[in-house]
This record gives sequence, C-alpha cells and structure tokens, in this order.
Amino acid sequence: MIADPQDPYNGLRMTKQRKVVYDVLLEERDHPTAQLVFERAKDKLSSVSLATIYNCLEALVSHDVVKQVNVDREPSRYCPNLSEHGHFHCKESGEIIDVQFKPDVSLAQFLDLPEGAVIEDLELNIKGFLK
Ligand SMILES: [Zn+2]
Repeated sequence: MIADPQDPYNGLRMTKQRKVVYDVLLEERDHPTAQLVFERAKDKLSSVSLATIYNCLEALVSHDVVKQVNVDREPSRYCPNLSEHGHFHCKESGEIIDVQFKPDVSLAQFLDLPEGAVIEDLELNIKGFLK
C-alpha cells in the first residue's frame, strides 16, 4: 500500500503516544512485540501503560500504518515496512527479517492464483534458520 503524502497515516489522528509508538517501530526494525515496544517507549513516555501501547498499536494496524505479524501462537510482532514483503523467521534466534521481492518479480509470476484474483494484502511467512 502506497501512503498518500497528504495523509501518511490514512486518516489516523497522530496523538503524541501513537507517534512515539510509531517512532519506536521505525527506530529499530526488528519486529518487536507489544511488550518490547512498551519497554522502548517508556524512556519517552514515562507514565505510559502496556494497555495504552496495545491501543496505539491497534490504531496503527487498523489504519494500515503498521503491519501486525503473527507467528504461530506467539505474541504478535509489529512491522512499519509497508512495501510488499514477506517475513523470514529464524527458528534459532527468533529473529524476524523482512524479505523483499526481487526487482521486477510479482507474486503472479510464481503463484498459480485463481483467475481474476486481486491481491490486496500479502502474508508470506517463511520459517527456517540462518546457517
Ligand atoms: Zn516486516
């Protein structure tokens, strides 16, 4: 999804708390959990609660400003990268790494999609480990 430069947050009102949460996600793109976002945001918002962090994350996700990444039954992780990409989960370190499409490659070129399929959202989760 391409953000409208006039409305980069898709109509979401950027409160101070949401901005801090968003900045935390942009600063270190390691797909943190809400708990980790909370710990990182505490330096900037001393009285913030974990519930507020969850609310901010939910608002950002529902306005397509941030992606929610779910792996099995583990706590959700959050990703500010809105370009079409997948996630590589390292089973050893627990790390989640963004996987971009190679230039000029589209999903339709390597997936046998149903006729007329229009892709609106992509969740590509790859699991393995790094040698
Ligand atoms: Zn990502």
